[in-house]
Amino acid sequence: PTSHAFANAPDTDFSIAAKRDRALAAIQTVRQQLGQTYLPLVNGQRVNTLEVIESVNPSNPSEVVGKVGLLSIEQAEGAIAAAKAAFPAWKNTPATERAAILRRAADLMEQRRAELCAWMVLETGKVLGQADPEVSEAIDFCRYYADEMERLDAGVNFDVVGETNRYHYQPRGISLIISPWNFPLAIPTGMTVASLVAGNCTLLKPAETSSVIAAKLAEILIEAGVPAGVFQYIPSKGSTVGAHLVKHPDVHMITFTGSQEVGCRIYAEAAILKPGQRHLKRVVAEMGGKNAIIVDESADLDQAVQGVVYSAFGYSGQKCSACSRVIVLEPIYDTFVNRLIEAAKSLHVGIAESPDTKVGPVIDAQAQNRIKAYIEKGKEEATLALEMPAPDNGYFVGPTIFTNVSPNAKIAQEEIFGPVLAVIKATTFDEAMDIANGTLYALTGGIYSRTPSHLDRAKAEFEVGNLYINRHITGAIVARQPFGGFKLSGVGSKAGGPDYLLQFLEPRHISENI
Ligand code: GLU
Repeated sequence: PTSHAFANAPDTDFSIAAKRDRALAAIQTVRQQLGQTYLPLVNGQRVNTLEVIESVNPSNPSEVVGKVGLLSIEQAEGAIAAAKAAFPAWKNTPATERAAILRRAADLMEQRRAELCAWMVLETGKVLGQADPEVSEAIDFCRYYADEMERLDAGVNFDVVGETNRYHYQPRGISLIISPWNFPLAIPTGMTVASLVAGNCTLLKPAETSSVIAAKLAEILIEAGVPAGVFQYIPSKGSTVGAHLVKHPDVHMITFTGSQEVGCRIYAEAAILKPGQRHLKRVVAEMGGKNAIIVDESADLDQAVQGVVYSAFGYSGQKCSACSRVIVLEPIYDTFVNRLIEAAKSLHVGIAESPDTKVGPVIDAQAQNRIKAYIEKGKEEATLALEMPAPDNGYFVGPTIFTNVSPNAKIAQEEIFGPVLAVIKATTFDEAMDIANGTLYALTGGIYSRTPSHLDRAKAEFEVGNLYINRHITGAIVARQPFGGFKLSGVGSKAGGPDYLLQFLEPRHISENI
């Protein structure tokens, strides 16, 4: 295998007091800027909207982070027209120039790192220790996809005597990005810059609960030099404007990260040919997971406990990569469970900006209610082993662990997207593998073991897009752990990997007799 050397942006070392202080000071600076209005950006112009929503701090919902104007369907039509008008020039802009814009965006993010972290802490309840690596990931996406586009732009020659055969790539056209709130900077950045660098005119529809951070991304892309009409920031309602754009005959591709339910609907709707449409749409959808970690009797339990706790409760379990099932072999079941509970108990649950906090809030009241309903369901299906108390003000849910969970229980099958962990006992390693693979999803998975035959079996049989051995299962790094799953976890190739840009491109071939 070939290896690829790529220099990832380093995270901030918060063990250095001055760096910690700087990050905390940035939160106070950003706090002075809360409550401003962010309007959609259509064809380089900020447009006024009839509808305005408030995006609030989930740690303290009375704090309005920003007001966000929502685009109407008529205004969305204007954005499509602008994108169509901008496309020919962007398509003909050399790939190196497009790549240079991404590299400038990366540098701007590096300069604004502390501020971007602060917005994430305040708008999405992410703790600094998780927000900072996310800025690194966003930067990496810009630099990696810039490199990747230059690599692909060289094309491939299949010349023979008397005949040139040139394989090359062109952009697809108008591209719609529908991004989630849980990685409010890295994911919209990755999807958007991939689409842009490939030469597509790109509309970014962020999740409502993270639209202020997306507005900061929009500022950065504009400052980096993306032309008007090529990139447009279109906060809007998914159920109306989002749905309208998915069905739009002028849209060529849709890149989505979010729930399985919405992803499947987009996939279906995008498949229907509309009057006037002259192409089939490409859909890239990164959806859910019900990710498991297997812990066998040869595992280093110190490592396993720490890795499971981090994977299950980091950002309150609101990652599609999060661990929501831990499958434990019988001989160590009791020991592991006791240590797991003790470790989870030590997690500090509190407001995201406090340096002591390990588990912040969940994103909004709806998420809080959904997760709490699953916890009630769990109490009927299994043994409640831990339900940590959490602050009342704010959308908090304390880390919760259920033991003796049946592999087919609802809490062992449905994606909860919260800090709820199901512990399942297995009597043999075969059974553990069956349980691990016994869901509709195939995103991430992990195994803690020092038994070579078990590791070999996991490598061969664990049905996941990303398998992690003897380490936590979240936090994939660009150009190191290309990220994405299969089965009902998604369709399309891995973010941060060598196939990702191909999805945004149309290959062409020219054979010439000479
Ligand atoms: N890439 C992220 C990780 O590896 C997860 C992305 C998501 O939750 O959508 O943790």
